Amino acid sequence: MDILMGDITVTVERKWIRSMRLAVYPPDGRVVLRMPMLMPESRAREFLTQKWSWICRARERVLSRPAKPERRYLSGETHYVFGSPCTLQLEYVTSGANSVRREGDTLVMRCRASASEANREALLYAWYREVLRTELDRLVAAWLVRLDEAPVTWSMRRMRSMWGNCRARTRRVVFSVELARVPMACVEYVVVHELTHLVVQNHGPAFRALMTRRLPEWQSLRRQLRTSGY
Ligand SMILES: [Zn+2]
Repeated sequence: MDILMGDITVTVERKWIRSMRLAVYPPDGRVVLRMPMLMPESRAREFLTQKWSWICRARERVLSRPAKPERRYLSGETHYVFGSPCTLQLEYVTSGANSVRREGDTLVMRCRASASEANREALLYAWYREVLRTELDRLVAAWLVRLDEAPVTWSMRRMRSMWGNCRARTRRVVFSVELARVPMACVEYVVVHELTHLVVQNHGPAFRALMTRRLPEWQSLRRQLRTSGY
C-alpha cells in the first residue's frame, strides 16, 4: 500500500510488530513505513503527519549525497537518453565550439582536454536540455489540446528530488532536466501528472481517478520511473 503525502510517496508495509517504524533509504529518498498488521490506516496517516519534518530532513540528507561515482563524464561511461543506454565518447579538440551529438548508441562530446568534470557535466546537460525541450514542446502542446486546457508556461531545471512541479494558480510548470534520461512513456506520464495538477492540486483520490481516465497505465509508468535509477 502507498500513502501519498504532498509529492512524496510512502510505501506502507504491514508486519507483526508492536509499533510503527519509519525509514528513508538512499539513493532516492524512498520512504517506508512499517506498521502493525491490524492497526488502522488512519493511524499511519497521523503518524506520518507528526513525523513530517523529520521525513523531509532525512530525505534532504539522503538526496544531497554526492552523485554516483561512475558519473564523471568520461569516455566509456553509460548515460541514458530517453531510456536508451549510450556510451560517452570524448573527443578532445583544440579549436571550435564544444558540442555533444548522438550517433546511434554513442554520445560524442567534443571539448578541450582541459575541460573539468563540471564543464563536461554542464555540456552534457546543455545537450539534455535541448533534446528534452523538443520532446516537451511536442508532449505539452499535444496534451493541452487533448485535455482542452489553456496554455501553460513551462521551463526546465536541474532538480534532484522531483520530476516536475506545477503551480496551478500561475499555470507554471517546471520539469526536471533528468527527464531526458528516462523512457519517453515516463516523460509523458510526468507531463500528464503535472497538467492534471491544474485541476487537482493534491494527490488524493480525485487526482488518481483523473490520472486513470487520462493515462490508464500511469501507475506502472510511475513505478518504472521510481525503480529505474536512471
Ligand atoms: Zn504531483
